[in-house]
Amino acid sequence: MMDLEKLEGDLAALPLYGYFFIDPKELEFSQRVRHICKTECPMYGTTWACPPGVGAVEDCQAKCLSFENCLMIVTVTEVADIADIQETLATRPDHEQITDQVRDLMRAQGVEPYVLSTEACHICPRCAYLDGQPCREPERMHPCVESHGIVLIPTAERYGIGFQYGQNVVTWFSLLFF
Ligand code: SF4
Repeated sequence: MMDLEKLEGDLAALPLYGYFFIDPKELEFSQRVRHICKTECPMYGTTWACPPGVGAVEDCQAKCLSFENCLMIVTVTEVADIADIQETLATRPDHEQITDQVRDLMRAQGVEPYVLSTEACHICPRCAYLDGQPCREPERMHPCVESHGIVLIPTAERYGIGFQYGQNVVTWFSLLFF
C-alpha cells in the first residue's frame, strides 16, 4: 500500500507545476489519437514506446484501467520562443528526469507504477524495435501518453491546467498508474 502522505511530502520537494491523483476511468481514450500518431508523427513504428509497438488502443486502455489510481504530474518551463521546436524539445529531458524521480519515489515504497510520459523513447541510439528485438530497458522506458490513445486535454482542463500558460510556456505531462 502506498503511503500517500509520504509521497505527497516527497512530491512537494520536486519542481512540479502540479500533481493530481485521478481515477483512470476519468481518462478519455480515442482511436483518433492513434490515427494522428500514424499519419502525423515521424516516430510512429520506430520504438517500443510508440504505436504499433505498444499494442492496440483497446489493450492499452485495458492496461490503464487495470490500475485503481493514477498520478498525473505536470511541469511547465518558460522558453524564449515556443515556435522554436529545438528549444521547446530541449525542455523534455528535464521532465523525463522528474518523471523518473517520481517513479523512484513510488518504487521506494514498494509500488511499481506503469508510467506513460512524453514522446518516443530515446534511451538507446537505435531502438531494438527496428530490429525486431525485445526492448532492452523495459524497466526504464515509458511509452508516451498519446501512444495509448489518451486524449489528455479534457482531463487536464478538468483540473484547471492549460496546455499553454503564456505564449512561451511549455507544459509536459506524465501519468503514473498504480
Ligand atoms: S529502451 Fe531502447 S529498446 Fe527499449 S524502447 Fe527505449 S530505445 Fe527502444
